[in-house]
Amino acid sequence: MAEKKRFVNPYNFIPFEGNINDKRISRETAYAKKSELLSGWLVVELTTRTPLIIPDGAHPKYWDIEKKEYINGEDEVKCRKNDIHKEYDFFRSPDGIPTIPGSELRGMLRSVYEIVTNSCVPFLLDEKPISRRVPVYGALCHHGLLAYENDHWVLYKATIVKKEAANGIYVNEKDDCVYVNGKKLPYKNGEYVEDLGWVQYNIPVNKSEYSIRFLKKGNEIVKKWEIRDNEPYRALLSALNRDGAGSGRNSNKIPNKNLCDALEKAKSGDKNLVPVYYMSVTRIKENGDDEVLVYLSNSSIGRIAQKIKWKDIMGDYVPCSSTDELCPACLLFGTTNGKGLKGRVQVTDATPDNVGKLTYEKHTLDILSTPRTSAFEFYLRKPTDNATFWNFDFYGEMKKYTLANGKEINRIEYYDLPEATPRGRKMYWHSKISKDNNKKRNLNNTVEAVNGKFRFKIYFDEITREQLDTLLWTITLGDNNLNSSLQHKLGHAKPLGYGSVKLQVVEQVIRYLSYNKQNERLEVTLNKITKENINIPSRLDTKSLAEKSILKMANVRSVPNNIPVMYPRGEDNKNRQNIYSWFANNRKNSASVKILPKPTDTDISLNINYYDEQNGCNDNNSMESSNRIDGIVRIKDEKYIIVDKGKNEYKIPNNQKFNPDLKNKQLKEGIRVSFKPYIYPDNKMAVNECRIEEEQ
Ligand SMILES: [Zn+2]
Repeated sequence: MAEKKRFVNPYNFIPFEGNINDKRISRETAYAKKSELLSGWLVVELTTRTPLIIPDGAHPKYWDIEKKEYINGEDEVKCRKNDIHKEYDFFRSPDGIPTIPGSELRGMLRSVYEIVTNSCVPFLLDEKPISRRVPVYGALCHHGLLAYENDHWVLYKATIVKKEAANGIYVNEKDDCVYVNGKKLPYKNGEYVEDLGWVQYNIPVNKSEYSIRFLKKGNEIVKKWEIRDNEPYRALLSALNRDGAGSGRNSNKIPNKNLCDALEKAKSGDKNLVPVYYMSVTRIKENGDDEVLVYLSNSSIGRIAQKIKWKDIMGDYVPCSSTDELCPACLLFGTTNGKGLKGRVQVTDATPDNVGKLTYEKHTLDILSTPRTSAFEFYLRKPTDNATFWNFDFYGEMKKYTLANGKEINRIEYYDLPEATPRGRKMYWHSKISKDNNKKRNLNNTVEAVNGKFRFKIYFDEITREQLDTLLWTITLGDNNLNSSLQHKLGHAKPLGYGSVKLQVVEQVIRYLSYNKQNERLEVTLNKITKENINIPSRLDTKSLAEKSILKMANVRSVPNNIPVMYPRGEDNKNRQNIYSWFANNRKNSASVKILPKPTDTDISLNINYYDEQNGCNDNNSMESSNRIDGIVRIKDEKYIIVDKGKNEYKIPNNQKFNPDLKNKQLKEGIRVSFKPYIYPDNKMAVNECRIEEEQ
C-alpha cells in the first residue's frame, strides 16, 4: 500500500455556529405577517452524477452463494444450508417505475437547511447512559476491592496475593464452573477463599490476560463516596450487564453474573468485598482543588459506564421540544417532538423525466462500516493541546516521571472532561465510486443503481420570503446550473461515492388569492417563473464558517483525484491493515495524535499510519482486543475452517504468527473457539489469535 499513503476520510463535520437559542422563536412570531406569506410550489430536476442507490428494502432477492442460483422466497431461504447473499433492486412505484421517495429527498434537504440556519440536531445517538471499553490499553490496570460500609461505598487498593494459571482457562456453561487445563476450579468470580483472598477473574481477552487473581484488602482508600451515593454500584452494574452478565453466549457471562451477585450481596449489607479493576481520573474543581473520579470494571479491558449522556453532549442542539421555541428547520419542516408541529413544505416522490433514458448498473458493495462513535478523535473536539486520547468523559495526557533510580518513564494521566464538544454535523465528501467487492457474501449486498434525470415538486404553504430564499439556496446550493460542481449526496452507500446528484429548480409557482367583488368569489392567480428568472441567492451569509464548510464539502472537486476516499487504515506489527490499527497507532504517539482536518483546510487528507517499533504498539494491546468473536470448527474441502454465528467462513492461516496458541492436533469438528477476524485486502477472511474455548 506504499503507493497510497494518504487518504480522505469519507465523512467530515460542519461546525456548529453561533447560539441556537437566539434563533428559536414561536410559530406565531415566525408567521406573524400573514399577508406577506407565500404559497405555491417548485419544480425540481434531479440529475445523477454518480450512480444513485435507493434500495427497495422490502423486496430482497436471495442468492445461494454455493449453488450460485437465486432462491424463490423467504420460505425456501430457511431451508437452505448455504450462505445467502441479498440483492436489492432500485425502489419502484407500484407500476414498476424507478422512483425516489419524497421522504428521502426531504431528509436530504432538511439536513442542509439545518446546517445553513444553525438549527437543532433531530437525531440523537442514544438517550441512555452508555458503557464502553476504554480503547487505551493499560488504563484499567489497578486492582481494587469495593465495599459498602455504614452507607458509604468505599474503594480500597488491593494487593495481589496469588495469580493463578495463565493458559487454558475456560468457563463451562453447563456447570457454571471454571476449568484450568481440564481441571475444575472450586471458586467463582467475586468469592472469598479462605487463606487466599478475594477471587478476581480477568475476563479472557488474550493469552497474557487470561488469569485469576486473589486479592487482599490494602489500607489505602482510593475513594470514599458520599453517604448513600450509589454511583459506583450503578456504574459497575450497568457495565456488567452490557458485557453480557447472565445473557448471551459469550464466555464472560458466568463470571460477570457472579460478580453481579457479589455486588448485590455487598449492597444488601453482607460484609463482602467486590473485586474490581479501576482507573482514576482527576477532576479539577472550580476552586482549583482536585477530586478523584473512579471508573470501575470487571476486567482490565472491560466496559466502564459513561458518566455523561449523549443528550448532555449535544447541549442546546437537542431537538426542539416546545412550539414556543422552534429552530428555523423545525419551523419549516415541522417536528414530532412535544405537541408536534406540521411542516409547511411537502416533497413529492421523484419520477424519471423519461424512463427510457435511465441506465442501470449492478454493484456488489463492500461492507459499509457503521459510524463509530468510539472514533472520538474524529467526533469530538480535541480538549487540550497535549491530549493523546479523549472521549465523552475524560482525556489522557502523557506525563514524564523520574523514578527513584533516576530512570525516566512516560505515563498517561487521565483528567475529567467537563464538556465534550462534538465537532459538528456529519457530511460525506463527493468522490468517484469505489471498486466493487469481488465476492458475494452474506455480509455485503448487491444493489441496482440508476443514472439519469428525475423530477419532483416541493409544495410550500404560507412561508416567508426569507424561508423561500433559504429553501431555494438549499436546493441549488446557490448555483442553479446543471454543470455546477456544487451537488448533494443522496441515498445508500455515500461513503463509497454513490449518490452525487445535482438539483435544479426549473420552475417556481406562487399562488395568490384575491377576492372578486363582482361574483363574490375567491380567485386564484398563479405567478409562474421559469428557471432563468428565478432569483436564487448565490450566498446566504458570506461570513458563516458553516456555509463555507458546506460549500467545500458539497463541491465535487474538493477531493484531489489522486487521493482515495476511504475509512482510515493502519498497519499493525504484523503488517496487516485495518481500521482499528489506525486508531490504536494514532493513540500511541502523544506528540502527533491526528484529528480530522477541518473541511475548510487546504489539505483535507490523512496519512495511513504504520506500526511504530519505538513506541511499541503491541497489537494484543490495541482496541482490537475487545473484538474477539466466537466460532465453531468445521471441515470443508478436507480442511478445517471456522464458522461464526453469522455463518461466515474463516480460513485458518498456517502461519504460526497468526495463531500461536493453536496446535493443529487440537482441532476437531464442532469445537468452540474464539478469535479476532482478519480480513485480507481481497476480502477473504481468516482467524487470528484463535484459541480453543470449549472441547467436546
Ligand atoms: Zn428544531
